[in-house]
Amino acid sequence: MSLLEVERLCVDYAGVHALHQVSANIPEKNVVSIIGANGAGKSTLLKTIAGVVKPNAGALRFEGEDITALKPHERLDRGIALCPEGRRLFPELTVYENIRMGAYRVRDRARFRSRLDFLHAVFPRVAERGNQVAASLSGGEQQMVAIARALMSHPRLLMLDEPTLGLAPKLIHEVARLVRTINSEGITVVIVEQNAKLALKISDHAYVLETGAVVLEGKSSDLLASDKVQHAYLGGD
Ligand code: ATP
Repeated sequence: MSLLEVERLCVDYAGVHALHQVSANIPEKNVVSIIGANGAGKSTLLKTIAGVVKPNAGALRFEGEDITALKPHERLDRGIALCPEGRRLFPELTVYENIRMGAYRVRDRARFRSRLDFLHAVFPRVAERGNQVAASLSGGEQQMVAIARALMSHPRLLMLDEPTLGLAPKLIHEVARLVRTINSEGITVVIVEQNAKLALKISDHAYVLETGAVVLEGKSSDLLASDKVQHAYLGGD
């Protein structure tokens, strides 16, 4: 079953066509990756799903309901969370304070505690650094905190924008493992990645964007094996 359906989405930024008739299906409990070159429209797609960018045309359906007109916080309440590119932590706040921000819509104390317990289990390193200011963390640790913060809302759909950007290879693998752990909790994940190989390895299904349009889609394992994809996106020969 589809958790999210993206239907012929068009986004213009003052005359620039960032997305043109983009359609996609995000099946429940899958990991779906969006790959493509710089400026292809990947971040715009995630921002439009989160509701921070308004489409000029097209529709979004979540659990069968039209959410195109909903505000970002209303989408968050339904379970759509975005972990934006560049981490965007509050540098002067502690790790714990940053994480708490992610739960600003969670009113129920027991629910808040249970989310925190989940995060402690999944991110032991983050938990150890709860009282440290975010600015003092390494890039990889900051990325973990940003993902932990997005998980505090208990999303059904977690969107990760370039989570491995600027990370050392060891940490890239840690992020990949984390995506699998999150997914094994039943959370559907959409991941935007410059690192196409990694994205295809950890996802079930993938979409390739080029200048705002979907040019290829399929099972990630098929795309990984395709000569065309190898040449164009994976630097293979
Ligand atoms: P990257 O991998 O470099 O982050 P991307 O695939 O995520 O790229 P987007 O950031 O979605 O691409 O950008 C798609 C296009 O829209 C680009 O041409 C970009 O310059 C343009 N664009 C993005 N945001 C804005 C904005 N706020 N105003 C005007 N143009 C924008």
